[in-house]
Amino acid sequence: MSEDSAQKSRRVAEGARQREWTQPSFGRELFLGRLRLDLIHPYPRPRPEEVEKGEAFLGRLAKFLESVDPLQIERDSRIPDQVIKGLASLGAFGMNIAEEYGGLGLSQVYYNRALQLANSAHAALGALLSAHQSIGVPKPLKLFGTDEQKHRFLPRLARGEISAFALTEPDVGSDPARIHASAVPTGDGSAYILNGTKLWTTNGTIARLLIVMAEVPAGEGHPGGITAFVVESDMHGFKVLRRNAFMGLRGIENAVLEFKDVRVPKENVIGKEGEGLKIALVTLNTGRLSLPATNLTAAKACLRIVRNWANEREQWGRPIGKHDAIAQLLADISASTFGMEAVVELSGALADQERNDIRLEAALAKLWVTETVWRTADQTMQVRGGRGYETAESLKARGEQPIPTEQIMRDLRVSRIFEGSTEIMRLFIAREAVDRHLEVGGELLDPELDLKKRTRAAAGAAAFYARWLPSLTVGKGRVPTSYREFGKLARHLRYAERNARKLARSIFYGMSRYGPKLEFKQAFLGRLVDIGAELYAISAACVYARMLAEDNSKSGNAYELADLFCRQSERRIEVLFDALWHNEDARNYKAAQSMLDGRYRWLEEGIIESWGVLPPIAEPLRQAG
Ligand SMILES: Cc1cc2nc3c(=O)[nH]c(=O)nc-3n(C[C@H](O)[C@H](O)[C@H](O)COP(=O)(O)OP(=O)(O)OC[C@H]3O[C@@H](n4cnc5c(N)ncnc54)[C@H](O)[C@@H]3O)c2cc1C
Repeated sequence: MSEDSAQKSRRVAEGARQREWTQPSFGRELFLGRLRLDLIHPYPRPRPEEVEKGEAFLGRLAKFLESVDPLQIERDSRIPDQVIKGLASLGAFGMNIAEEYGGLGLSQVYYNRALQLANSAHAALGALLSAHQSIGVPKPLKLFGTDEQKHRFLPRLARGEISAFALTEPDVGSDPARIHASAVPTGDGSAYILNGTKLWTTNGTIARLLIVMAEVPAGEGHPGGITAFVVESDMHGFKVLRRNAFMGLRGIENAVLEFKDVRVPKENVIGKEGEGLKIALVTLNTGRLSLPATNLTAAKACLRIVRNWANEREQWGRPIGKHDAIAQLLADISASTFGMEAVVELSGALADQERNDIRLEAALAKLWVTETVWRTADQTMQVRGGRGYETAESLKARGEQPIPTEQIMRDLRVSRIFEGSTEIMRLFIAREAVDRHLEVGGELLDPELDLKKRTRAAAGAAAFYARWLPSLTVGKGRVPTSYREFGKLARHLRYAERNARKLARSIFYGMSRYGPKLEFKQAFLGRLVDIGAELYAISAACVYARMLAEDNSKSGNAYELADLFCRQSERRIEVLFDALWHNEDARNYKAAQSMLDGRYRWLEEGIIESWGVLPPIAEPLRQAG
């Protein structure tokens, strides 16, 4: 990418960034060194009517899901029509839509739990329902649509007309600045003519309504820029070019879509011209909570699989769960699943409470849960041994239980890629984490500003840091009696408080050491974010366990799990802090460039060139470098 293009991408992303923070944010405070427990504790409780409605729906959904045959979906790579119809008649396409528009109006917590449940029948169901309403038309419409648009579209969507979200293009993945799809205003101003190709649109083959991002050229009366349109699939010029197939998520209706001179009335523009990227990003901000919820399904399934198998399977004279190496995995799976549940439940509850801005918590949840559950699935496969690697269909044919361990891994893997890849989530969170520093010292770091401005910025920064830095040396985490009401979990909250301050200090040291180059220190920033994510998970685990204990609704051993989880998390945090300053980042980066330049090409020798469709090793070997 040329420097110009990189700058444009940054400028566009920055322009679409939601800058204002009108509500408090636990995540934001954490990166500033303040463990604002008051923002998440007392645990935000659902209202009784939300619980009643939610539980009733979960009951109906669970009953319906018993009729779904997961093996059939896996075999046919298709969700049967009657399953989609059944879901529609239950109202599952309107879970997230307000009752006044014919939806169920479930709270975020119950919406998450419903997705979790649907996902347990087959992951394609979770993908279908969440692409439809977590990122599909209902979400941006709810956030940015006019009343007229809501009345026009939401009842249809709630009834089961399926929707999709089309942002990605062949050339546009993580970097939406390069969007090619265009929407040119008609001469009379009544419509836009949409042209372009969209890639990997989930539900694309079956969607009736799509939210499509396209670039409007600037012109008279048109500010232009990336804009969000509602497109109907029967509009002339819309075509499904092909259905895509993937490693997992068989049954997902994902497509390449073509828009050829599609006339979209101006009434179908959501928000204003030029607001499309912001709309897409804000939609994803909360839409992101669905993925951790569906990933939690996998974690729970893993837990159940390993409990049964590690008890039942005997090798070397004992159940495998009694062998220390396997027991270590079982403990990690148990504690991590508790941590994931705590993060999913708390993040959903915070969204429902509407007191906090949860964009960072949702991003932390997405990043942390999708990464953690991948480790859980891998450990589960190890515990299952050869049976973990065998397909459910094959196991069944041999007369064994069709436990789909390999399918869980295949279905999960994409979670670390879509709806904001792990790398992009880390950058997104890091940007917010250093935002306060850029606000107070940004001009100081800008080499293009004149000396006068930079001197003024330096004075402002000095005043801020003179107050802020000392505040990071003392806190409740140093007082042994703090957080006493959490019993044996108090020590973990004290740890979180102390280490939130250490995290903030580390961000400050990073800013001082790297200056404007910090932006490019992705490995360093990634570790800071991962520490923040673990601290969020520790905090969530403690308040969630406390709430469960208060309710006595679940097993009294939630404290035990939370304690174990926090201890494991703290070990990960120690490693991350250490690696901030002791690492091979610079050497690794250099080696990667050498590899890209072909210096290690000789290492690729010894396999046939046509293996799969590998690109040929164009030049003679062992000569480079
Ligand atoms: C099954 C599936 C369903 C999908 N559903 C939808 C959908 O419904 N709607 C839709 O619009 N899209 C959808 N997508 C697209 C998905 O959101 C993209 O795959 C994702 O945004 C990543 O884009 P990309 O694959 O082009 O990767 P790229 O952007 O090309 O990135 C490749 C790698 O480079 C990393 N990378 C990129 N930029 C940076 C950077 N600046 N710094 C560090 N690392 C970087 C990425 O993290 C990734 O690891 C779907 C994809 C799949 C596979």
